[in-house]
Amino acid sequence: MKDYKKDARQLRTRLKNANMKIHVMQFCMDYDIEFSVNNNCYEEALADFEDRRIEVPEILGDVTYFISLHELGHLLHPLGCPLKSSVLEAESYAWEWALKNSIISPNKKVKTMISRCLQRYCDYVGSDRRYKIPNKKDLFWKILDGRYY
Ligand SMILES: [Zn+2]
Repeated sequence: MKDYKKDARQLRTRLKNANMKIHVMQFCMDYDIEFSVNNNCYEEALADFEDRRIEVPEILGDVTYFISLHELGHLLHPLGCPLKSSVLEAESYAWEWALKNSIISPNKKVKTMISRCLQRYCDYVGSDRRYKIPNKKDLFWKILDGRYY
């Protein structure tokens, strides 16, 4: 007998991924942002402020969905651009925007990925004055250590 449960599970996953992709594309259409996929940019997805463009890995699950929303957050959060905030603050604002606008709750894997991303930026503190360390009570630390959720 055919395993319908497995089929249903796979279809649900595909439908969820399609909905997440549509959600990101809808923001791009509404705010005139170019959406480009680069599967080699998992660690280096980007938001281009001048060209209003995001370059993200293909949305194949929760993690890549949140990465895409994060890049949109750099363009759509009022303080998400590192020219308006310090680099570390801009990172936390872009994540805040992603978390506020997502159609799903972040799972453990997503939360871990977000913390790791913010942690990575801490390595650059001191290398450049734009990389100043946020205040103790700043949103940056709340998201990094999980108190935000
Ligand atoms: Zn970022």
